[in-house]
Amino acid sequence: MKKTYRGSCHCGAVRFECQLDLAQGTSKCNCSICSKGRFWKAIVKADAFRLEQGADCLAEYRFGRENIHHLFCRRCGIKSFARGHMDELGDFYAINVACLDDVADEELAQAPVVYQDGRHDAWERPPAQTRQL
Ligand SMILES: [Zn+2]
Repeated sequence: MKKTYRGSCHCGAVRFECQLDLAQGTSKCNCSICSKGRFWKAIVKADAFRLEQGADCLAEYRFGRENIHHLFCRRCGIKSFARGHMDELGDFYAINVACLDDVADEELAQAPVVYQDGRHDAWERPPAQTRQL
């Protein structure tokens, strides 16, 4: 069931709200940036995301094909979400589920996790190793 969650960066300058069904799955990827940041995400369409405050605090990092906007707080450094566009999905947000403020540990622990081999551009299959993600 979709619920409205509120999330924020570490210092609280960046705050957002999103509609999300954690039971529909989350994902972890072994690509260069997800593995270094240990990014645990849930994808939502653009209309299910609302930035409540902190637009002026967001810095952006892009690399490679530069199609994903990695947005982090310039004060505390936390990336609470990224945004991008995929043909199948349209505009989307990748929520850092670790930045959700009103979710119980038990709820996060029960959320299914799909592992993706982004390092080899194969997001549809899991990598050989997943425990380190
Ligand atoms: Zn911050």
